[in-house]
Amino acid sequence: MKVLVPVKRVVDYNVKVRVKSDQTGVELANVKMSMNPFDEIAVEEAIRLKEKGIATEIIVVSIGVTQSTETLRTALAMGADRGILVTTDVAVESLAVAKILAKIAEEEQPGLIILGKQAIDDDANQTGQMLAGLLGWGQGTFASKVSPDGDRVQVTREVDGGAETVDLKLPAIVTTDLRLNEPRYASLPNIMKAKAKPIAQKTPADYGVDPTPRLTILKVIEPGKRQAGIKVKTVDELVEKLKTIGAVQ
Ligand code: AMP
Repeated sequence: MKVLVPVKRVVDYNVKVRVKSDQTGVELANVKMSMNPFDEIAVEEAIRLKEKGIATEIIVVSIGVTQSTETLRTALAMGADRGILVTTDVAVESLAVAKILAKIAEEEQPGLIILGKQAIDDDANQTGQMLAGLLGWGQGTFASKVSPDGDRVQVTREVDGGAETVDLKLPAIVTTDLRLNEPRYASLPNIMKAKAKPIAQKTPADYGVDPTPRLTILKVIEPGKRQAGIKVKTVDELVEKLKTIGAVQ
């Protein structure tokens, strides 16, 4: 079966993001961008399924600015087979992403679509769920284990206080959690080989989707600064402070 993996280009998780002075968003100029970490886990899972002989082809998709090609190349260097770049110059919201992915799924007929559970830039955590709704497929979100077997897949999910296993009919949607696997680094020879792998160039219009944002961002602000702590000399003083701290503030 084919496996489709959507990968998003986001600000690298090591970067300390800065809010733009006009409060319309975060600074992206000269900022290191990388593949969304949950999407690296999704690519890794797809590669492991291919290594087990379950997946036959891994197609990676990125929707965004033209530099998202770099994100696709990273996935191809890890081991994906081909890419689809859907170029837009506006930031695409989850619903439009899900609509584009639904059309790609109709064309490509994958058995599994593995997405990240959330993109670390907008923390929306909804694209996989919306896609499952649009396609009418089952979904196993926050996956910590994925075990396809014949025309079904068992997905173990991270839930409060434990794990839940769901059994889904294929085709299905899976979204990855941190404990699913540890993504591999691409080796230099594979980075070179990835340059020759095909990337199809598309636009939202090719899929009949209007990417115009439906939400208006009113304001983006920095989180409040933490107040300075207090140093105490004795345990008694600590206990006293803990009792009265509410009153002090
Ligand atoms: P979100 O719902 O925005 O938190 O994103 C969840 C997942 O959907 C991500 O981890 C990606 O797998 C996928 N996704 C979201 N936006 C995009 C995009 N612009 N291009 C490709 N995949 C995306």
